[in-house]
Amino acid sequence: MLIKLRKNRVIEKGEIYLAVKEFKAESKRLLDLVINSIYTHKEIFLRELISNASDAIDKIYYRALTDEALQFNKDDYYIKIIADKDGRTLKIIDTGIGMTKDELEDNLGTIAKSGTLAFKEEIEIKDGYDIIGQFGVGFYSAFMVADMVTVISKSLDSEQGYKWESKGVDGYTIEEHEKNTVGTEIILKIKENTEDEDYDEFLEEYRLRSIIKKYSDFIRYPIKMDVTKTRPKEGEEEEYEEYTEEEIINSMVPIWRKNKNELTDEDYTNFYFEKRYGFDKPIKHIHISADGAVRYNAIMFIPEQIPFGYYTVEYEKGLELYSSGVLIMDKCPDLIPDYFSFIKGMVDSEDLSLNISREMLQHDRQLKLIARNIRNKIKNELSNLLKTDREKYEKFYNSFGRQLKYGVYSDFGNNKEILQDLLMFYSSKEKKLVTLDEYVLRMKEEQKYIYYATGESNEKIDILPQTELLSEKGFEILYLTDDVDEFALKMLDSYKEKEFRSVSGSDLGIEDVGEEEEGSKEDNKELFEKMKTILSDKEKDVRISKRLKSHPVCLINEGEISIEMEKVLSAMPDSQNIKAEKILEINEDHEVFKALKDAYKNDENKFTLFTNLLYNQALLIEGLSVNNPVEFSNDICKLMI
Ligand code: ADP
Repeated sequence: MLIKLRKNRVIEKGEIYLAVKEFKAESKRLLDLVINSIYTHKEIFLRELISNASDAIDKIYYRALTDEALQFNKDDYYIKIIADKDGRTLKIIDTGIGMTKDELEDNLGTIAKSGTLAFKEEIEIKDGYDIIGQFGVGFYSAFMVADMVTVISKSLDSEQGYKWESKGVDGYTIEEHEKNTVGTEIILKIKENTEDEDYDEFLEEYRLRSIIKKYSDFIRYPIKMDVTKTRPKEGEEEEYEEYTEEEIINSMVPIWRKNKNELTDEDYTNFYFEKRYGFDKPIKHIHISADGAVRYNAIMFIPEQIPFGYYTVEYEKGLELYSSGVLIMDKCPDLIPDYFSFIKGMVDSEDLSLNISREMLQHDRQLKLIARNIRNKIKNELSNLLKTDREKYEKFYNSFGRQLKYGVYSDFGNNKEILQDLLMFYSSKEKKLVTLDEYVLRMKEEQKYIYYATGESNEKIDILPQTELLSEKGFEILYLTDDVDEFALKMLDSYKEKEFRSVSGSDLGIEDVGEEEEGSKEDNKELFEKMKTILSDKEKDVRISKRLKSHPVCLINEGEISIEMEKVLSAMPDSQNIKAEKILEINEDHEVFKALKDAYKNDENKFTLFTNLLYNQALLIEGLSVNNPVEFSNDICKLMI
């Protein structure tokens, strides 16, 4: 019988009228993406479905903790996998909490967890990049291997069971369905093999077993499967018969309870994906089994890539917190400091109470101890990485160095000691990232300070006039290109008793410069006074420069707030118009200075013109905008005519 449906779609069905509901628009696009994705690890659909099943059992477990009417009888809770080669179906059965009709609709009919779909479409789906896990579209991955997915579920909160069914993008149906026990049964109609794709493998016992072992070995509940075995036939010699026996495939021991020596890098990486910590390959894992003042196991990861939205206020830091193997908090923020907020992972401790509240946790002594240990461990691991695998460390630093620098700056500089040796800056001499320690070791004997220059990019700093004298002396300069850099260094103040000095600061601390400066200043004192009047209150002072060699002018600054900091602060929405005290420096040995002197003596208009032009040039070099661009271009025209 043919039934006409909305949108003139005609489908064939049985006697009953079934309204095919369409997926929400976003879900449809995503589903399309998943089905047609070039994703190479199709096998992960099983990991996703088993994960969901395990979560569903967790939910019953939690319910039993608070609901006295409910008993959690360990043996009643399991996941079962049944493959039927002839029928081409694969069933994933769980005795978890199940779904009501509304939940089936909400959970499986929509993917509206985040508004990041646009992003999803943009990112490249690379091998090993777990797009599916990353965005929590786990269930939909079933469509990578199945033409049709049927979900039969009965919720703990419902008397009635329901069947949800879908063949993919076209939509899904929901109807009542007889089911006696609470839980969910997912039936995948496995696709037929194609020329380039083998789907039969997902019906093979050995293959299913290896996928479960690989991805879901530490799931806390038994994953059962009927396994074919052979045994000698009774009464017959040398004859064997096949029989099936239900086996538990997973070892159920959580990976964090296992001995480090038994685990391979791959085990950790699989755990990272399984937990959906990220979709990159982590740079390093940290496995702690502490047996001292506080007992806990932890597995943590340093990711390689910046997670989506990491540098935004919406990003939530935290580690999963377990108490004796039971998850008590998804993201416990108190376990890691903000400056290590990129760390992903989990902590399991027997010394924490299961029913501890959020507020109590914050003050928990044990938790504080764990947090401190973890912090020190992460710090040491990062230091080691820096020493032993520079390339990897730089990869890490390019992603998360900024967070470390924020860490130095925030919290009133309390974390200086922990973080300063992890910092890196680009060096004028080495043309790559260097640590402060390396800088200090290389310092010249007569050099008193650690010099830095600020700017938008390394290329722009390379050509800053202010660096000329220092470069000539062979002093190394650190390039600061991040907003936060200079704030962090100001907070550090010094490293190994060497103070930081900006190349644009009023005093470079180079002794042989001072005297000459005095001498020249006398001669041109009036000229500078005049310039100052012309520039009126724009700048604090005009003076001779000793740091300039080939450039005519530059701006330098005096006081705590630098020009770069002024830029950062004024870009903030609540900026309070904080200004740097700027000084215009002029190169006495430059041809332009002669012209300026000439004009000073002979032509007042010209002198004014030159003064304004030089000042505006200095602003432009600094990356600041000229106060009056029209006047500036008119001034250039005057010069040309
Ligand atoms: P995620 O697991 O990341 O939340 P999924 O798309 O895999 O995303 O699943 C969506 C939701 O559907 C789950 O959050 C859960 O509420 C529900 N769900 C999926 N599978 C099951 C199951 N076997 N039993 C109960 N609920 C389930």
